[in-house]
Amino acid sequence: MSVTQAAAYAAPAPKAPLERTTVPRRPVGEHDVLIEVKYAGICHSDIHQARDGWGEGIFPMVPGHEIAGVVAEVGPGVTKYAVGDRVGVGCFVDSCRECEYCLAGQEQHCVQGATGTYNALDRNGEPTYGGYSTHLVVDENYAVRIPEGLALDVAAPLLCAGITLYSPLKHWGAGPGKKVAIVGLGGLGHMGVKIAHALGAEVTVLSQSLRKREDGLRLGADHYYATADEATFKELKGRFDLILSTVSAPLGLDRYLSLLRVGGALVNVGAPEEPVELNLFSVIAGNRTLAGSMIGGIAETQEMLDFCAEHGLGSEIEVISGDQINEAYERVLSSDVRYRFVIDTSTI
Ligand code: NAP
Ligand code: ZN
Repeated sequence: MSVTQAAAYAAPAPKAPLERTTVPRRPVGEHDVLIEVKYAGICHSDIHQARDGWGEGIFPMVPGHEIAGVVAEVGPGVTKYAVGDRVGVGCFVDSCRECEYCLAGQEQHCVQGATGTYNALDRNGEPTYGGYSTHLVVDENYAVRIPEGLALDVAAPLLCAGITLYSPLKHWGAGPGKKVAIVGLGGLGHMGVKIAHALGAEVTVLSQSLRKREDGLRLGADHYYATADEATFKELKGRFDLILSTVSAPLGLDRYLSLLRVGGALVNVGAPEEPVELNLFSVIAGNRTLAGSMIGGIAETQEMLDFCAEHGLGSEIEVISGDQINEAYERVLSSDVRYRFVIDTSTI
């Protein structure tokens, strides 16, 4: 079975609604697998990019980098996967494979630039198209195995939201005895709560309001505060070892830095379209760290999936059909998502 054209939803131009179309898929090469995509999560990054929020994109754009599916065909040199295997693809589909970061399993930081799953040009200069599509061809080294214990629909969002929180939580030592705050209870944030709780940390959600408090506590948070309430910042001053911000809009970082203990770290993973302001005294006082983190490498993504399967951590999802993507984008933009929209690609 070879597929040269795949059905997909694409934004034809920046800010234009997504519409059904077809996109080319390359023939299955020596080390490629053809994936029949089953589910694709909607990440806020899809919306930033489809609307040129981070700069000029490549159009038509088929977003989607939270991809779960089944291997439908393998190239003759493929050793890791067989037809029928359940696999995932995240934010990148290639990298140089020889720089120090690729060799260290941090392909996302490839010196030549990792090839984005969409909104990118591949090593041959052809545009890449993402997971809002029925099929995808990818080098076996850039796919990961979805463990049996995880259903494909709840696994899809782990390929970006899951790894984006797992990686900094591990790196910054979230675990027993550590107080961790997650800012923003959206797609990334809700996975942060689940994973930090499973790692044994004491977890606090800092959300704009108390609207989603019951959910937050059910997902594993020990405490839940509204950031619209100024009293929150007074009460929590100096409280946390680690704060992860998943907020998609510019955030006043000084207020959040003041919530760290001496030596604590605020790790920002949210990627707003505008710069933010920072008073450097916020990090000088208390020897605090302000850091960032970008997704994770292939090996760590596999580790995260195995961890999530072991702890029964899927994403909380709302499954939608292809014709509901534009409406879902609006709902994500108004923080009205509980907690990830996932496209059933059989509806494309
Ligand atoms: P999301 O589902 O929309 O969640 C973002 C949450 O931030 C919202 O649910 C909301 O939570 C909060 N929020 C939104 N606007 C806010 C505002 N004006 N002030 C305060 N809080 C606000 O988005 P997502 O998919 O989780 O992605 C979040 C961000 O991370 C995006 O910018 C995305 O591009 C970025 N991202 C980064 C990486 C990385 O590697 N670093 C990977 C993936 C995504 P409450 O309603 O609880 O307040
Ligand atoms: Zn993403």
